[in-house]
Amino acid sequence: MKKNYDLVVIGGGSAGFNGARVAASLGRSVAIIDGARELGGLCILRGCMPSKTLLYSTDVLHRAQKGRVLGLRIPEARVDMKALHRRKRRIIGEFADYRQGALASGKYDLFRAHARFVDPHTVELSDGRRVRGDHFLIGTGSKVSVPPVSGLAETPFWTSDDVLDLDHVPESVIVLGGGIVACELAQFLRRIGSRVTLIQRSRNILRDHSDEATAVVQQAFRDEGIDLHTDTRILRIATAKAGVSVSFTSSGRRVTRRARHLFNALGREPNLDGLGLDAAGVKVTDEGRIAVNRWQQTSQPHIYAGGDVCGPHDIVHLAVAQGELAARHAAGVRGLKPVDYGLLLNVVFTDPPLATIGRLERELDAAKEPYLVATYPFNDHGKSILMDALYGYVKVITEPKRGRIVGAEIVGPDAGELIHCFSGPLAMKATVFDLLRAPWYHPTLAEILTYPLEEIAEKISG
Ligand SMILES: Cc1cc2nc3c(=O)[nH]c(=O)nc-3n(C[C@H](O)[C@H](O)[C@H](O)COP(=O)(O)OP(=O)(O)OC[C@H]3O[C@@H](n4cnc5c(N)ncnc54)[C@H](O)[C@@H]3O)c2cc1C
Repeated sequence: MKKNYDLVVIGGGSAGFNGARVAASLGRSVAIIDGARELGGLCILRGCMPSKTLLYSTDVLHRAQKGRVLGLRIPEARVDMKALHRRKRRIIGEFADYRQGALASGKYDLFRAHARFVDPHTVELSDGRRVRGDHFLIGTGSKVSVPPVSGLAETPFWTSDDVLDLDHVPESVIVLGGGIVACELAQFLRRIGSRVTLIQRSRNILRDHSDEATAVVQQAFRDEGIDLHTDTRILRIATAKAGVSVSFTSSGRRVTRRARHLFNALGREPNLDGLGLDAAGVKVTDEGRIAVNRWQQTSQPHIYAGGDVCGPHDIVHLAVAQGELAARHAAGVRGLKPVDYGLLLNVVFTDPPLATIGRLERELDAAKEPYLVATYPFNDHGKSILMDALYGYVKVITEPKRGRIVGAEIVGPDAGELIHCFSGPLAMKATVFDLLRAPWYHPTLAEILTYPLEEIAEKISG
């Protein structure tokens, strides 16, 4: 008789690992199945951590190169790709070791294989073994998508994995796409010294964000010498002499660009390869994600899903929250609350960074809900002026009667850190008056937030 686990987790990334951790802490018997050659998941191995390690270095490089503006003479500031690559590998290796240690801690049975459902309570592993469970959590993540763009599938291209693993400066790169990964890594490539062309289909890069915010990032990209094309339609991608060529229309004009390398950053899609969802009776949405309810249950109530495989956002803290919620729900814990997407927190690690939280103007306009909004620019604030960090602004959005904060948008220095000034207040349903009672030290970047808060407070007090 095979062992029957309380919870079988497929995929040991952010959603799966954290679901397993919580289930084990609740005294459940847990199996984790992961078929990767190297354990750790996307965030640690090929996502957040390597990208932010590299971007931090190129941020410092950029500041050093701008030293003259700050009254510094730094004669030679340039990247040492071999050293950068070594540092990234060491740091990522340490994070991965820690996760691998946790996976092998004995709190769970770890199976190093791919899993495929053969019936709603059994998976067959790629090594032929079978594992049975009362409950399942699918956390198989996402993979790079290759949309049907003429010539793309036939042309050799890099994915983010390749860019994150570079140990040399590529002479020139064409980046396809204008999402978060495309923008962050396009700026990284430009700052290490590559000639970069970015081609984005929509009117703006980072199209999920407001026109006002993306205009700031676009200006910074152009100022740094990124050849940026928006509102495009790709006509043809082809292998060319010593590289690739991409022909596209840009605002109606036909343009061709050539480069040594092509970076496909057109997006990711849920990884459902070989999972046998039909055999389990698990349904998928029209967008190809596993359909889940607010407790992360799929169309089979004993099978849960979390992370990129179900979305709705490819963001680590949400993958963790979904995995944990699924584990608690499967264990019958009472008094649970669903993941609150009204508190959605988003950070784009470009320079200037762009960060948002909560509900923003586009959503409130679409819902025809009234709101108050106030904005203040970084080029009129003491601390950012002395830092010569002049791009961008802070924006606060509240409901109109009591001034309860519903959202904020920051594009500018340290936006990814500053946005957290609103995390607690939003979760606690604070008003602008509550936040204005708090102390704000001078001169800090955070202090800039008091200006839009005061403006809204004055509007309400009349
Ligand atoms: C370049 C890049 C930068 C990013 N930066 C950020 C960032 O700064 N902040 C942020 O919040 N998010 C970021 N993300 C997104 C973030 O990395 C993902 O949202 C998150 O890691 C997804 O976690 P997951 O648990 O869903 O999947 P994963 O971590 O991908 O885990 C899936 C696991 O499932 C295993 N698996 C797959 N199929 C099977 C199978 N059939 N059987 C067994 N095992 C299987 C895989 O081996 C893998 O280990 C970034 C992504 C990329 C690509």
